[in-house]
Amino acid sequence: MERVAIVGSGLIGRSWAMLFAAAGYKVRIYDIEPKQITDALSNIRSQLEHLEEIGLMRGHLTKEQQFQAIEGTNDLKYCIEGAIYIQENVPEILELKRSVHQKIDAVMDPTAILTSSASTIVPSDLCSHLKNRNRFIVAHPTNPPFYAPLVELGPSPWADPDLLPQTTALMKKIGQSPVTVKKEILGYVLNRIQYALLRECFSLIREDVVSVQDLDMVMSDGLGRRYAFIGPFETAYLNAGPNGMLDWGRKYGADILRVCQSFGGPEPFEGPTVDKMQSEMVKYLPLDKLDERRKWRDARLSALAKLKASF
Ligand code: NAD
Repeated sequence: MERVAIVGSGLIGRSWAMLFAAAGYKVRIYDIEPKQITDALSNIRSQLEHLEEIGLMRGHLTKEQQFQAIEGTNDLKYCIEGAIYIQENVPEILELKRSVHQKIDAVMDPTAILTSSASTIVPSDLCSHLKNRNRFIVAHPTNPPFYAPLVELGPSPWADPDLLPQTTALMKKIGQSPVTVKKEILGYVLNRIQYALLRECFSLIREDVVSVQDLDMVMSDGLGRRYAFIGPFETAYLNAGPNGMLDWGRKYGADILRVCQSFGGPEPFEGPTVDKMQSEMVKYLPLDKLDERRKWRDARLSALAKLKASF
């Protein structure tokens, strides 16, 4: 059975571990903090139990088989050796990631795929110092990867020609939806879009145009309803006339430009607007209910995945 290595067992690392185990791989998961590994394994067990209870398990293996496929370790070399695929998930700090990559580089198989879950840092900054930089590619997941399949693939400028197709094929095999980021760009694609959205949401709250709860509903019951099935371009393509984008541009282009020109520049995400968002959020979602709500979110995302797979 092929084996993968997960380095860093926080929110993202543990979710990748579940994904590979559900797809039939053996998984070794490493962390510098032993308690993080213990927590990750007990969290994975409880997620699998919950998924089984609500009938939303992934793959064909039982909950126990999936759990048994994941082994925690405090030994990085043991984690990496023999792995065909290595996913690094340590915090988004350039020097930390570079040093972890260097340690992995020293013990990895030169034909293995080395990936990072990095959200904003560009691939060349993460791997320029590695002897195996030809095997390096960013695989930036959506949180939580087990429940949201989109993964952005950004190969290093030194990548072997087969690295992108191999990683794309592996992602599809484990049930993810890979897209290619063709050029190095800060924040890749998902976070650039997400941050543009957050910037405008922040401004709408600061200007007291809408409440926090109503703003969230604009996404969950408005834009998000269709974005779960079609993206903004297909939405536009369907929304105008028989000539698709051409009609859309003619019909709505000037209005869209006028509104876009009224947007302000970016501002720090701090101060009274954050306090206002916090005080509204805690009213409808108290802080001691976050774990319960995360479970609810993950179950809804699993149910959505089933619904989408049924079409
Ligand atoms: P996290 O803080 O939950 O987990 C990080 C883990 O790395 C911790 O368990 C920590 O103990 C461990 N760690 C720290 N130093 C280490 C080292 N030297 N060796 C091994 N392990 C070490 O963080 P996270 O949210 O899982 O994020 C991990 C990566 O995934 C980051 O690059 C982040 O930007 C990216 N990412 C996060 C999200 C998200 O929404 N959380 C989404 C996509 C990508």
